[in-house]
Amino acid sequence: MADCKRCLLLESAEKNTLDDIRQRISKLSNNEKVPDETYINRLEKCKECDDLISGVCMKCGCYVEFRAAFKRQRCPNANDRRW
Ligand code: SF4
Repeated sequence: MADCKRCLLLESAEKNTLDDIRQRISKLSNNEKVPDETYINRLEKCKECDDLISGVCMKCGCYVEFRAAFKRQRCPNANDRRW
């Protein structure tokens, strides 16, 4: 797969990785996990960001679809924190 700038895993061909992430997120408690609306809003911000490549944030190396699920996590770009 070619690098897909500003793509989430959902839009790329990384189905196995996405399935694994979704399974891990499903095991989080509501205390750990953001509400669905927050999660979707965070991913929309990532999709507008130049640091998103093939579902991975180039600032931290995380899959954004995993990182964005956690209440305790923030966008790692201290100079332009989007969520
Ligand atoms: S820098 Fe922030 S907005 Fe950009 S991809 Fe990473 S987490 Fe998402």
